[in-house]
Amino acid sequence: MNKKINKILVANRGEIAVRIMRTCREIGISTVAIYSDVDRNAYHVRMADECYSVGVATVRESYLNQNKIIEIAKCSNVTAIHPGYGFLSENPGFVELVHNNDLIFIGPGAEAIRLMGDKTAARELASSLGIPIVPGTTKPLSSIDEAIEVAKTLTYPILLKASGGGGGKGMRIINSDSEIASGIRASQSEAESAFNDNRIYIEKYIENPRHIEVQILADSYGNVIHLGERECSIQRRHQKIVEESPSPFIDEPIREKLTQTAIRLVKHSGYTNAGTIEFIFDQEKNFYYLEMNTRLQVEHPVTEMRIGLDIVREQIAIAEGKPLSITQEDIMFHGHAIECRIYAEDPANNFYPSTGRIHSIKSPQGLGIREDRGVQDGDEITTYYDPIISKLIAWGNTREEARKRMIAALEDYELFGVRNNIALCIWIMNHTVYSEGIIDTNFLIRYFKPEMIEKYSDEVKSDWNLSGLVEDA
Ligand code: ADP
Repeated sequence: MNKKINKILVANRGEIAVRIMRTCREIGISTVAIYSDVDRNAYHVRMADECYSVGVATVRESYLNQNKIIEIAKCSNVTAIHPGYGFLSENPGFVELVHNNDLIFIGPGAEAIRLMGDKTAARELASSLGIPIVPGTTKPLSSIDEAIEVAKTLTYPILLKASGGGGGKGMRIINSDSEIASGIRASQSEAESAFNDNRIYIEKYIENPRHIEVQILADSYGNVIHLGERECSIQRRHQKIVEESPSPFIDEPIREKLTQTAIRLVKHSGYTNAGTIEFIFDQEKNFYYLEMNTRLQVEHPVTEMRIGLDIVREQIAIAEGKPLSITQEDIMFHGHAIECRIYAEDPANNFYPSTGRIHSIKSPQGLGIREDRGVQDGDEITTYYDPIISKLIAWGNTREEARKRMIAALEDYELFGVRNNIALCIWIMNHTVYSEGIIDTNFLIRYFKPEMIEKYSDEVKSDWNLSGLVEDA
């Protein structure tokens, strides 16, 4: 199918909606925003050419309200819907609904999402292709006895994971037989309430791993290219907060093997559009397939900064039915990019989300700095949605240049009104373990103590307004 897209409904909010609209504006596509009651005056609404109320604040009745979104799409005469990330982006039923209404979904087809979104089915596919997967089960667990048997062969610790979804929901580390029964019950009920699907499976818990992923683009003609890897090992609660590209951990031969593995899996899954294959590395540099994210990732800007390619623009072209405009050989990687996710959350209080009105926000500027932001002065951070405020990205010719640029930018960042993690990001960037690039996913658990950050900010920022720590004065 070849159809020109001239108007897009962005079925999302916050920074990703703003970011998508920015590309649309640049290439002359008009945009439609949807907003819930509490988002009436949000940045993404102000950014759009048209805007429509989608419902009350709760996500089920607004940004997940499929019928209402389709109704708005039809009455505003859009050609396509971009789902962003989260919300309906990985919902195959929604993709079908979009298609059945003669609209284009800017993303993969429903079948590919169904296959790769089901973590056990995707593990089975990867394994059948000879791609290493984390040792464990490729079928959902059927009983506690089975789990105990599997744990015996894998040896503890093991990880319980939900088959039907991500975001850390249903994930539980189990250290002994005695923890299994209660662990399974807790995982199942968490998975049930998050995804309406209580299936869980087991993976060997890899000790102190690295999370490294490969960005790919695939068109409808079987062309698949990779846009390099991203290292996302700095995490809290199994969720990323700092990402970078390239990974400081892998060399060229491993990179080649990793990216080719990702391409092979994508080719066999019938996947089109932008997607990410996530891998986990053990300390010996063995890698294992972890999962595929069948959508645009939060951290895509670090890739864009290195190769000068707009991934959203490519997504739109692929959805229009165009072949990829670039080949693997056209992609040139330049320098190093680091992203810090700025969250309204309190690192000193177990990263608990923070709410309130943003009284004042001023972004850093300068060579190699990009910010993808979803809020402006006066906007409200509520409990209804993900508390991400913005993503700050620093590019440099070398990792060290990018790191120093990031520190300077973070120190320049002014944010009043909500507790946030800026001081934590500065602390991470300055840590010698981070600067040497020898990180793993337990970096924060191992090194971070809440007191450090307050001490740190007192020492380093005598003239700094403690915007990372203090609620509005
Ligand atoms: P989700 O979709 O919930 O984000 P992932 O499978 O992508 O789940 O895993 C998220 C993070 O959890 C990984 O980046 C890693 O830090 C940790 N993790 C996942 N699987 C394992 C494993 N088998 N061993 C150790 N850590 C893991």
